[in-house]
Amino acid sequence: MSTQTTTTTAYDARAIAPSALAELRVTDDAGRACVPYSAGEGGDPLRCCLRLSVPGERIALVSYAPLRRWAAGTGAEPGAYDEQGPVFVHAEECGGPAPSETYPFARAEALRTVRRYDAAGRIVGGRLLEIPEATSEGFDRAFAEAFADPAVALVHVRAVEYGCFHFEVRRP
Ligand SMILES: [Zn+2]
Repeated sequence: MSTQTTTTTAYDARAIAPSALAELRVTDDAGRACVPYSAGEGGDPLRCCLRLSVPGERIALVSYAPLRRWAAGTGAEPGAYDEQGPVFVHAEECGGPAPSETYPFARAEALRTVRRYDAAGRIVGGRLLEIPEATSEGFDRAFAEAFADPAVALVHVRAVEYGCFHFEVRRP
């Protein structure tokens, strides 16, 4: 799984898995056809490789169901906790994230939700994170706090303003 992980942060920020991306680039998790377009001026947060788009790249906005995708691999049944939302991805295979010394999309003062899920796929709490100047320490503390609860199997990091999925962290 090395293509999905970073190497130097305390926790691994997981991008959307290559197998899921291959499917999303045809039909998204809402059943809609993928419609590639040019990124224009760029700056769109790409959840396939955890970086911002550069001008003119071919990207797509697709609906993604991260909990459903995780549950399909573990046998969990999230039921009503399943949800889907918009994510930007490259329109074609991109090779996934490059190793990084920081967490993806870590910008001081930005607001994130760190939502916790148990092994059955149920929400077991969460917290608001205002990313501090020391961005990695801020994320590390939030993840350590989440996994201090033995019931927590994974967390989703989301933007507060748009609610969109940024990345997933599983129990180390
Ligand atoms: Zn990508």
